[in-house]
Amino acid sequence: TTFEDFKLNKQLLTAITEAGYTIPTPVQEKTIPLVLAGHDVMGIAQTGTGKTAAFVLPLLMKVKYAQGTHPRALIVAPTRELAMQIEDHIKILGKYTDLRYLAIYGGVGPKTQIEKIKAGLDILIATPGRLMEIYLKGDLILKELKTLVLDEADKMMDMGFMPQIRRLLEIIPRKRQNLLFSATMHERVEKLSEEFLEFPMKVEV
Ligand code: AMP
Repeated sequence: TTFEDFKLNKQLLTAITEAGYTIPTPVQEKTIPLVLAGHDVMGIAQTGTGKTAAFVLPLLMKVKYAQGTHPRALIVAPTRELAMQIEDHIKILGKYTDLRYLAIYGGVGPKTQIEKIKAGLDILIATPGRLMEIYLKGDLILKELKTLVLDEADKMMDMGFMPQIRRLLEIIPRKRQNLLFSATMHERVEKLSEEFLEFPMKVEV
């Protein structure tokens, strides 16, 4: 399999080449076609497998610039470091798309983040605490959301973020595509996937 086989657009293929990716990793090979086809996906993959690009690439393909004012895709990650890493992937792989993206996380004041959100976004990356904090202030509209990604779901559970995740699931549109990634396949991850994924396709590497 090559990246060309996925029918990604030219802007993405150019960025992939520039990033130095020559062949898709196993998790990319399995995940990208499923996401492009619109499936919910439950991915069991650890850091280092290329899992970030496995969901970032099809997202960059699906989300269209300024089709709405508010984010169409939301990626939730347990830590500021991971959120920044995902933002970095979007910056590199989305270099030739004109998509507007932003990572929001705690540890810094929310003011600049809120200003950027208000200016309009296509893709939002967020840690659960800061996400709900800004949402509850009324500064973030999630009603245009079409895709939700929960990255490192097992870690989010370990860190006690389930109340925020449950709350989030209540406020976003019901009709949407869901992607859940976890390093491990525990019973609780299985339960979470039953709770919010619809007929998920399972990818394990
Ligand atoms: P991740 O598992 O998402 O944390 O990615 C691990 C590292 O692999 C990151 O630095 C990526 O930029 C890199 N990477 C992802 N996909 C590929 C690929 N197909 N070929 C080479 N490197 C890749």
